[in-house]
Amino acid sequence: MTELFKALKIEKNEEHQEINLVEISEDDLMEGNVVVDVTHSTLNYKDGLAMTGSSPIVRNFPMIPGIDFSGVVRSSEDLEFSKGDRVVLNGYGLSESHYGGYSERARVNSKHLLKLPENISNHQAMQIGTAGYTAMLCVLGLEDFGITPKSGEILVTGASGGVGSVAISILSGLGFSVIASTGRLSESDYLKSLGADTVIDRNELSEPSRPLGKERWSGAVDSVGSQTLSNVIAQTKYGGAVSACGLAQGMDLPSTVLPFILRGVSLIGIDSVMAPMSKRERAWDRLSKDLDMEKLAQMVVETDLDKVQDFAQPILDGKVRGRVVVNIS
Ligand code: NDP
Repeated sequence: MTELFKALKIEKNEEHQEINLVEISEDDLMEGNVVVDVTHSTLNYKDGLAMTGSSPIVRNFPMIPGIDFSGVVRSSEDLEFSKGDRVVLNGYGLSESHYGGYSERARVNSKHLLKLPENISNHQAMQIGTAGYTAMLCVLGLEDFGITPKSGEILVTGASGGVGSVAISILSGLGFSVIASTGRLSESDYLKSLGADTVIDRNELSEPSRPLGKERWSGAVDSVGSQTLSNVIAQTKYGGAVSACGLAQGMDLPSTVLPFILRGVSLIGIDSVMAPMSKRERAWDRLSKDLDMEKLAQMVVETDLDKVQDFAQPILDGKVRGRVVVNIS
């Protein structure tokens, strides 16, 4: 008899899209050479966009959302992977063109799978999730540029969100002095518990201002974009750098070239979706060494496959703190 398992499916007709918890079989999955029993997934900003349909994340319908998952290999046609291997997958078109992590089982391309470091459990891997892995890519971007704790303070925008919370925690663990920018000053104690030294109101950065401001930080991790990123760049110290990964305020960048040509400031673009495997391995290895798992646990809210939709609009409204783990099986 065909074995059935649960998955969340987005269907779309001309007027609207709807999401249902359905039962499917392996025959319904997309092509791939490894089948994984998914144990955990997460909710990221992009999952909110996909589930609400407020941005064209999903390219083919029907689609199983979930841009990442961790799980255990069930069967593999690639000798690199064996039954029982613990794996993680971030991006590579999950929830865009390939069925994603909100499913008890997934069939994927082995080239997109990464074996988890020994000391990161499947649950922890999704406490980290795409947001945390992206935060590490941002930190690596600053490090590779040559920024060290001696360079001076580092700003983290969107501080209470997923990328922001993990970035603060990693940076503070590495000995950086961290300034957290947030719209939720009520979360100051939370941000300080993660390692922020100073908390500032994001309104300081969200409105148009001068092309060059007072030099305030040596580097930044920005998940907000738009006017905020413009002000972050304009207030970066001479020779500093900004890792830009997000667009929570907007996708525009109303800036001038002055910070680049008068202060030698650099803008580092961060993409997690198509990042090459070598970069992913490096990021997950560093996460296994440099992220305080107790702090990570403080950031997390748990949910299940049948309730994850309830978080879709709140994450877009900036009302979700830290990370959301979706317990799959
Ligand atoms: P979250 O929703 O968890 O965090 C975003 C945070 O941004 C919010 O918590 C809020 O923090 C702040 N924010 C929200 N709206 C605004 C606004 N209008 N103006 C200023 N700040 C705002 O999302 P994630 O951490 O999962 O992702 C953050 C961003 O990074 C998203 O845009 C996402 O698409 C992007 N991203 C990009 C990746 C890549 O590969 N480049 C990978 C992962 C994420 P606070 O309340 O503290 O101000």
